[in-house]
Amino acid sequence: MNWKHALWRTISRVAGRPSPRTGLRVLGYHAVGTELPGDPYGLSVDPALFTRQMELVASGRFGRPVGLGSAKLDGSAEIAVTFDDGYQDALKTAAPILARLSLPFTVCVTPCLLDSGRPHLSWPELKELSAMPGCEIGAHGLTHARLDALGDAELSRELTESRRRLEDALGRPVTVMTWPHGAASQRTAAAARAAGFTRAGCSLYGVNGPDRDPLLLRRTEIVAFDDERDFVGKASGTWDWFALRQPDPARQ
Ligand SMILES: [Zn+2]
Repeated sequence: MNWKHALWRTISRVAGRPSPRTGLRVLGYHAVGTELPGDPYGLSVDPALFTRQMELVASGRFGRPVGLGSAKLDGSAEIAVTFDDGYQDALKTAAPILARLSLPFTVCVTPCLLDSGRPHLSWPELKELSAMPGCEIGAHGLTHARLDALGDAELSRELTESRRRLEDALGRPVTVMTWPHGAASQRTAAAARAAGFTRAGCSLYGVNGPDRDPLLLRRTEIVAFDDERDFVGKASGTWDWFALRQPDPARQ
């Protein structure tokens, strides 16, 4: 726990309200169970907490569980579980829990991080993960650079090369992604669309109605400090006020 999380929790519990609108809620995770040195942001969620969170998702109380690529985005209540960066625990820890609960999930990976080895998935492990029930693989940049800071040529290369390397390795289309560092804009969304992506998640809290650009989907991050009440609040919208302190890539 850090003081910021404690403050945000207090605000959410005192002033937060469940989202008045329905739509696609995208949950954003990084690691499940892997010990990350320091980890001031709580990126690695305890497997027992994660299991309880997924049981709540599987109960259907937050909407129909979907993969990022198969979400209808028609304003009906849907919930997607996504992972960034491609930690090895997606295969060893998270996927078996999700498979047991018959939950679809999306793992967005960065080819250059996979090349770097532990604690990230190896390429054979990525292939194994992609064959797990309900698993969808997406891209997360080529090098994990902030894509909104790149010029057009380099931006295009990050998008097309990440997609090409994953499709070559998996032998299936890769059309979803998440933005490294949540860094995106209208320009990067247009480039992702041109590169063949149909869905992309950023880091802006909130729920996605039919009016939201599918290349700039709002996503709510779940961290290690979240207890069950925090999780229920995040999945139902009592933490959505947090978006007020975040830039909206759709307005950049
Ligand atoms: Zn990342």
